[in-house]
Amino acid sequence: MQFDWGDIIQRGKRGVGLSEAEALAIGELESQTDVEALLRAAEEVRYAHKQNLVNTCGISNAKSGRCPEKCSFCSQSAHYKTAAPTYTTKTADEIVSEAKEAFDYGVREFSVVMAGRAINKRKDLDVLKETFTRIRETTGMQTCASLGLMTREDLEELKDAGMQSMHHNLETARSFHSNIVKTHTYDEEVETIRHAKDLGMYVCSGGIFGMGESWAQRVEMVLDLRELDVDSVPVNFLNPRPGTELADLDELTPQDCLKIIAMIRLVMPTKDIIVCGGRELNLKASQSDIFQAGANGVMLGNYLTTAGQAVAKDLAMLEEQGMVVRAPPHIPHPPSVPPAVRSEGTDTAGLTGKPVCP
Ligand code: SF4
Repeated sequence: MQFDWGDIIQRGKRGVGLSEAEALAIGELESQTDVEALLRAAEEVRYAHKQNLVNTCGISNAKSGRCPEKCSFCSQSAHYKTAAPTYTTKTADEIVSEAKEAFDYGVREFSVVMAGRAINKRKDLDVLKETFTRIRETTGMQTCASLGLMTREDLEELKDAGMQSMHHNLETARSFHSNIVKTHTYDEEVETIRHAKDLGMYVCSGGIFGMGESWAQRVEMVLDLRELDVDSVPVNFLNPRPGTELADLDELTPQDCLKIIAMIRLVMPTKDIIVCGGRELNLKASQSDIFQAGANGVMLGNYLTTAGQAVAKDLAMLEEQGMVVRAPPHIPHPPSVPPAVRSEGTDTAGLTGKPVCP
């Protein structure tokens, strides 16, 4: 396909995304010249809708491991023998303290993540409600949670307690989902997303790339996300965890990753695109190119079960790229030099991390 980049940019600026045929054809771009033209288009469209403002998210891994579900990428599944930490639900005190620490080093959107098919009704709901109320009162951060499959009633209760956003990934395309997620269905993921949209919540939903899916399946998932009208797309690249079914897969190339981000920006021009887990491993020295490819957000701090690069390094990268952290008007901008919070490593309990699951 011959791309008319000028036309694609103009459409993108008007909020009109690529057709399916165009999104599929992006997968065939290989030459440096073509990929550079793609990135220029994605950057221009990103700038038109988001300028140089960047969302910074952090998470608390509030309940880890021993999950009865079987998702072949996940080190928290009880079906695999892995080094992921296991513990039951943290207290509201613990989560709020992590949220405050994350706030101090630059996070402005904070998500509470719990492993499992779904939350344990009353106990988890009560911890979450107290947590959201206190995070809102003490930091003013945008509050989010990733809690597995959700009922409309539970979401409504949490929304009333101050949960503003809901994260729930599709994980991968409908046509590939049963190869990856063995114990629940694609339709169940979609139902959770629809409940949150119906309640007027900000919905963050994306997936993991590099799990053996084809380019056509990447496009398939992104078109479904567009159809579901999700507000934000977290983009994870597989970080193969020892002990899981996908442990031996090779990582993607940096060019693959940038093409994926750019395709999402041009399919969903007005949405937030947040680069999350697997950034360091897959993008390597090209991490700072994610903004040129159309991303307008990054997860800061550790991932769910693996460490991310140092926060100071991430914030320095944002500054170098001329990106400015977006903060709600009622709370202060993050410090330019955050407190050192951790060193880089391998498996970790995850003070904060990227919502690759549930
Ligand atoms: S991705 Fe979520 S639901 Fe699946 S095994 Fe991991 S923790 Fe459980």
